[in-house]
Amino acid sequence: MNEMILLKLGEMVLKGLNRRSFEDRLQANLARRLHRFGQFRIYTRQSTTYVEPMDDSCDMAGAHEAVKQVFGVVGVSLARACEKDADAMLEAAKTYLGDRLRGASSFKVEARRADKSFPMTSIQLSQYVGGELHEAFPHLRADMHHPEVTIHLEVRDFAAYVHADPEPGAGGLPVGINGRAVALLSGGIDSPVASWMIAKRGVSLEMVHFFSYPYTSPEARDKVIELARLLTPWCGRLTVHVVPFTAIQEELRRSCPETLFTVVMRRFMMRIAGKVARRTGAKALVTGESLGQVASQTMEAMAATGAAAGPLPILRPCVGMDKEEIIRVARRIGTFETSILPYEDCCTVFTPRHPRLHPTLAEAEAAEAGLDIEGMVRAAVEGIERVQVAP
Ligand code: ATP
Ligand code: MG
Repeated sequence: MNEMILLKLGEMVLKGLNRRSFEDRLQANLARRLHRFGQFRIYTRQSTTYVEPMDDSCDMAGAHEAVKQVFGVVGVSLARACEKDADAMLEAAKTYLGDRLRGASSFKVEARRADKSFPMTSIQLSQYVGGELHEAFPHLRADMHHPEVTIHLEVRDFAAYVHADPEPGAGGLPVGINGRAVALLSGGIDSPVASWMIAKRGVSLEMVHFFSYPYTSPEARDKVIELARLLTPWCGRLTVHVVPFTAIQEELRRSCPETLFTVVMRRFMMRIAGKVARRTGAKALVTGESLGQVASQTMEAMAATGAAAGPLPILRPCVGMDKEEIIRVARRIGTFETSILPYEDCCTVFTPRHPRLHPTLAEAEAAEAGLDIEGMVRAAVEGIERVQVAP
């Protein structure tokens, strides 16, 4: 009970997006994410959100780790609550932050008083606690400009809080504040990263996976479900719409010129994802494409593919990233190890030997001319299996 978590809130950049809706959304997301660690009181004052355990049964270490994955937070500190008394704060700093202080070479103390009736000024309090800490940890040098550790003392209405510098939070905007999008999730490295990047901008996601059983195995499907589950600490609960894609691929292999197979197949993916978007109120599609990475990721191929998405914008946050950069993000967010498990993706199953690098929209449309596009899309959509995943 004498420990709590302080969260420093991030940017509120959208014009017209008010502070209140940002804070409300963040608090709701935190409440959902922290639920399984116990009961917490969550409230916001002056760009800081306070996460206070309601009783001793709360798992503070678990909660502390979990909040680092909540978008909208730029800094996370664990704070010790104590009596509003200079010696109590000194004692808390010594015991609670002792390890941090022992491991550092320089420090400073920064005090703040919300309670102006506290008998010392902020400067007096900083000087007193700083002086005593210097005696207790003689190896420490006081450095007002570039201290390795800053000890924060906050005298608030009901208690005082002692904490050190915040650790970085996840950044971004609270999920849900920027609407909803459909993310096309393959088993690869790029699409989980793309999904994460868009969720980070405050978008809640619906995941769509195209599954080509028996050309791709149940293990390949499970891997994609697992990738979605790995994203849930960041994105919240997710639904994976598993689309049966085999019939469409077989039909295209029969009727489509081999060089145009990939672009036509990807146009079907966009149409089906677009239907899922309509059903779920999503306003955009998200893919992991990166310019020039493979044959289907030229500008011409993107144009021909995008034309099948109708009015929905296709968000491609990895478009300007190198593979190395994408991998770095994948490692950081925890999806890399699963992405590199060796299962085939539906895109690789019928990959043509010589795909057209610069297909035109007219060529793609001509290749589709004899197809019952509506019927093929409808059958796939009707066969969708929805899988819920949670952290
Ligand atoms: P990734 O690493 O994300 O698999 P990639 O570099 O392998 O991407 P492609 O296979 O051409 O590239 O796929 C491009 C994008 O199309 C993917 O990032 C993903 O968004 C989408 N996509 C590809 N295959 C599937 C699939 N089976 N289900 C859902 N989306 C897919
Ligand atoms: Mg792939």
